[in-house]
Amino acid sequence: MKFATRLVNYDACPGDPYRATSTPIYQTATFEQVHADSFGEYDYSRSGNPTRRVLEDQMASLENGVRGFCFSSGMAAIATVTRLLNPGDEIIADWDLYGGTSRLFGKALQHAGIAVRYVDASDPHQVAQEMTAAARMVYVESPTNPLLRIVDLRAVAEIAHRHVALFCVDNSTMSPYLQNPLDLGADIVVHSATKFLCGHSDVTGGAVVVKDTALADEIYSLQNAEGSALGPFDCFLLLRGLKTLKLRIDAQQRGAEAVADFLTHHPNVSRVFYPGVASHPGFAVHQSQARGGGSVVSATVGSPKRAKSIAEKTELFRIAVSFGSVNSTISIPFKMSHASVPADIRIARAIPEDLLRLSIGIEDPEDLIEDLKTCLDAL
Ligand code: PLP
Repeated sequence: MKFATRLVNYDACPGDPYRATSTPIYQTATFEQVHADSFGEYDYSRSGNPTRRVLEDQMASLENGVRGFCFSSGMAAIATVTRLLNPGDEIIADWDLYGGTSRLFGKALQHAGIAVRYVDASDPHQVAQEMTAAARMVYVESPTNPLLRIVDLRAVAEIAHRHVALFCVDNSTMSPYLQNPLDLGADIVVHSATKFLCGHSDVTGGAVVVKDTALADEIYSLQNAEGSALGPFDCFLLLRGLKTLKLRIDAQQRGAEAVADFLTHHPNVSRVFYPGVASHPGFAVHQSQARGGGSVVSATVGSPKRAKSIAEKTELFRIAVSFGSVNSTISIPFKMSHASVPADIRIARAIPEDLLRLSIGIEDPEDLIEDLKTCLDAL
């Protein structure tokens, strides 16, 4: 089955006597047991819930894994993955990570005795050079957020495995429609489901998908032990949002291509970051591992003052963190999504203060371009 078919054609409620075509919300904490000395398929929703199970199975299927897990947020998903490590272990991570991930790696992991070494993973040689005997995980996003750099996932997977380290990819900017890291050698794929999987900015959620059953058992035991799973109603909303993933992303990507082209030619834009155009330094690698440039476009506009002016003047782009929604949004990563990264590190990591990150929604691209033109012409 092709991807569009798989998005809607699955068993929405296994075992349901009424054969509902949309997954029911099993809004229950407990499930009655027939016998006092044996459990049924479900007993307690922290451990398992039928609505969540359908979503987790669908995520596993869409990412070509063996098992999926849904969490109360993307950060809960990422935190769970880091629990696979032990004190003394190291993570080799790309330096251009979502600010919340850097914060988790900086603070929480320090307490756990896990060190994180940052590298430029868009250069696989640097990853190879930084691998140590203690490295147990390599962690990247591709495209990265917010600079949209590209990591060669096949090459980095090979390096990680040579050192018997797990390779984890945050696939939030692409979604399983545009990229499947497990097929490229990753062991673990994580998502902020808050982004494209949901698509409507009405759920905070996360997902982990793995392709190894032993690893799946470990993630399951952590999800159950820590009680970080997604609630039934949010699972229902995500199942509903997922059905239109391809339609939304096709429209959003068309808009992003048009907006990136417009920005590239506007005299008040100094640099455009979009992996869907041939001039992007990672274009060839991205083309070899993904099926499109996505719908997040970043651009520098000359000064923080100009960035602020555009963000506040635009009428169609709402100033908001996050991305992937049907509504277009605009943000200044230096001040917003990456504000949790200490200022010296933000500067060292070359996140420009005048960088705007646009997430293109499903509005008519002509309207979006007209709106941006008005703001840019006025500078
Ligand atoms: N990963 C990426 C790439 C993100 O952009 C975000 C949030 O913006 C997260 C993870 C964290 O996800 P959540 O906000 O759902 O916890």
